[in-house]
Amino acid sequence: MELLDGTPVAKRIREEAAALARAFTPPPRLAVILLGSDPASETYVEAKKRAAREVGIRAETVRLPAGAPPEALLDAIGRANGDPDVDGVLVQMPLEPGHDVSRVLDAIDPRKDVDGLHPENVGLLHQGRPRFVPCTPAGIVALLDHYRVPLSGRRAVVLGRSGLVGRPLAALLTAQDATVTVCHSRTRDLPDVCREADLLVAAIGRPGFVTSEFVRPEFVRPGATVVDVGINRIASLEDAPPNLRKSERIRQAIATKGRAIIGDVDFDDVSGVAAAITPVPGGVGPLTVAMLIRNTVEAARLRRGGRGAERTS
Ligand code: NAP
Repeated sequence: MELLDGTPVAKRIREEAAALARAFTPPPRLAVILLGSDPASETYVEAKKRAAREVGIRAETVRLPAGAPPEALLDAIGRANGDPDVDGVLVQMPLEPGHDVSRVLDAIDPRKDVDGLHPENVGLLHQGRPRFVPCTPAGIVALLDHYRVPLSGRRAVVLGRSGLVGRPLAALLTAQDATVTVCHSRTRDLPDVCREADLLVAAIGRPGFVTSEFVRPEFVRPGATVVDVGINRIASLEDAPPNLRKSERIRQAIATKGRAIIGDVDFDDVSGVAAAITPVPGGVGPLTVAMLIRNTVEAARLRRGGRGAERTS
């Protein structure tokens, strides 16, 4: 079984981005708009900013208080759009109830949309001429490319159809000549469909959902490649599904850190049959941040021109 470790791949992408970022004066600048103070969102935003600063990108949080009205969020987006010194804009999700996600994504300048979620960028991706590709699916494809996982003519099953992961990933895999099936909560005979996959990607947000021959049901064909996108936080073993409660890694993480991060795949079970599998954490996660960095440099290049020498302020 080959472990598809995302860390070295992410490092290489960040180093490439750093070299490109150095060509810009002033350096590329990223505005992350954060509404409220959800602890997980705070952690993600800090990780993004830290990674950006490490490669010389200027990154800042535009904070809006919890309960801020939709107009305040749209105003903040408008200001970042209109600021000639800002290259990339993203709004940290999820939003509080009462905000219309489509309205928010529509408001982002598509040429600063480093998360690749504006309808113009979604459309370009699906037309096969991508501009900004959503970071997680772009990272998955970079990971598969690095480990030379063959895609052309292979069967790929994507578990999950979100606009953030499943759908854009299906478009990217199709563009690489894979034969792609997208599954979701209404898919019938789900394990049977998943077992057809040469490449199975799980992005559903259900801890340890994908099992195989030792735990069952069998979602994984022996020899398949499995990519686990899920990030599920649990604070006690009782929160984990029964099949994960015996995991020494999860027990240790809870004992030492008070919580464990668990993927959508039962790693201990599935690694017994898969040819290759991503770990959680340390698989897809690092690639997501690296792709945000790459997209931010690309946003600077798009607006300022190829060599980046042009001053914006
Ligand atoms: P999402 O928007 O909640 O979408 C979940 C998808 O999974 C939906 O399409 C849903 O089907 C499907 N689903 C849920 N339960 C299912 C079941 N029992 N059987 C079959 N399909 C089921 O989630 P997301 O934003 O795509 O994220 C998915 C997971 O990836 C989460 O754990 C998230 O934290 C993680 N994630 C990780 C990264 C990273 O960097 N590693 C980045 C983004 C997300 P319906 O459409 O029918 O409801």
